[in-house]
Amino acid sequence: MSWTKERLERVRNWKNPYENFIDESKINTILQDAQKPSQESVLSIIEKAKSNALKGVMLTPEETAVLVNTTDDALWEEIFKAAAYVKEEVYGNRIVLFSPLYISNPCVNNCAYCGFKSSNKDMQKITLDMQGLKQEIESLLDVGQKRLIAVYGEHPKSDASYIAQSVKTIYGVKKDKSEIRRVNINAAPMFEDEYKMIKQEGIGTYQVFQETYHRDTYEKVHPKGTLKGKYEWRLFALHRALNAGLDDVAIGVLFGLYDWKYEILAMLYHAMDLERVFNIGPHTMSFPRIKLTSNSDMYRSPYAVSDKDIVKIAAVIRLMCPFTGTILTAREDACIRDEMLKKCGISQTDAGTNIGIGGYSENSGTNNLSKQQFAIGDHRSIDSFILNLVKEGRLPSFCTSCYREGRTGCNFMPLAKHAAIKYLCIPNGILTFKEYIRDYASSEVKEIGESVIIPKYLKMLQENLPQIAGTVEEMMSSLDEGKSDCHI
Ligand code: SAM
Ligand code: SF4
Repeated sequence: MSWTKERLERVRNWKNPYENFIDESKINTILQDAQKPSQESVLSIIEKAKSNALKGVMLTPEETAVLVNTTDDALWEEIFKAAAYVKEEVYGNRIVLFSPLYISNPCVNNCAYCGFKSSNKDMQKITLDMQGLKQEIESLLDVGQKRLIAVYGEHPKSDASYIAQSVKTIYGVKKDKSEIRRVNINAAPMFEDEYKMIKQEGIGTYQVFQETYHRDTYEKVHPKGTLKGKYEWRLFALHRALNAGLDDVAIGVLFGLYDWKYEILAMLYHAMDLERVFNIGPHTMSFPRIKLTSNSDMYRSPYAVSDKDIVKIAAVIRLMCPFTGTILTAREDACIRDEMLKKCGISQTDAGTNIGIGGYSENSGTNNLSKQQFAIGDHRSIDSFILNLVKEGRLPSFCTSCYREGRTGCNFMPLAKHAAIKYLCIPNGILTFKEYIRDYASSEVKEIGESVIIPKYLKMLQENLPQIAGTVEEMMSSLDEGKSDCHI
């Protein structure tokens, strides 16, 4: 029996032990009931979201429905201000930077929107061998990256044991005393024994996007008889992962497949169910929009999300779930990314992105749709992206310390829920940015970093947490003496 057939049979025989948490008609009713909300109700929910940030409480679906149905532009400005406030309360004004690393693109599925789909004959199918993977890591280390999200198609060539081997290889690469310190992964749903296998290699967050929570749409874009075709198998991928012992999981929607308001509420129900069953909310939420790819025009779907709406989506997600990280990616153009960074309380983003397989070593800097899943919109290098952040007064961070200090899952959540995590994010942001300045920064980033950014955030610590400020100053001296990887 072929790998796919055998796996399909295992998936078909899988008995779902969990309760369904998506009730489509309930979501539709909640959205319907919240049509044309009054100014008063929108403002009171904004206030509630702000106070929730300190209590670790999510908005209810009914409250979230009011925000998404807001029509007045002036009220949307209030939502954006609140999103920025909440982000700053929970995490501080730091932005964590990572790079996506596409390792293998052959895929047995045939998702209508994806360049890797099995029917796309214009895609060069490539699975990096461990030597090719090392070259990619060395290229990323050369520009100062410390955090990755490794991405794989679903295929026997990139099964759980290949994923485990690739994570091990990534952690093993050292260059100029630098190394990748956290590998998150985005890979198809697995069985619990497979999750245990990849956990052993020390993966960070495990990310699976449901793509759409609307069952009919899901079934239309993921053909029946493919592994991805079974809605529940994917819906409970993260329940299985947590049950198998993975620490941090991340959810997302591919916006443009179905009505964005419905999808936001469904995402909230997903977060609530993870909380209910495991007492651990999603570590991050993602809101990619469908982008141009070879052999698909799905980016023109009737539900395509406009530039104006993607900004709203990201801001509402921030308010709805204040303790969850939000991820913005280089799918978006540079100017939209800059706007979203200002208005939506984004906590993590990628920089210097290249999603072609082998793309970092080739350093092409442009889109090549025969090698990548979709076209990206922001080709800025890590350093020029950082320059932009520091000009806005933000603290760029390569922090990986929570993960390595055991602050994951149920150890991490209380810190984020009580807005205490920023007292770790800011010190570690300062330390990792200082290391970046020492080893990789351009003269312009170095100048602003040393004269404005580091003094600004250090002063903040000195005023609020003098003891931690003292520790950070000592660690900064160690970095000056050539030490690396100082963190608390
Ligand atoms: N094969 C794995 C899976 O499907 O779970 C890994 C995911 S895929 C390589 C990463 C994510 O990219 C998908 O979950 C989907 O949300 C997103 N994606 C796929 N096609 C896209 C497109 N045309 N534009 C933007 N994002 C896309
Ligand atoms: Fe394969 Fe994932 Fe692309 Fe679907 S989205 S075709 S499963 S890589």
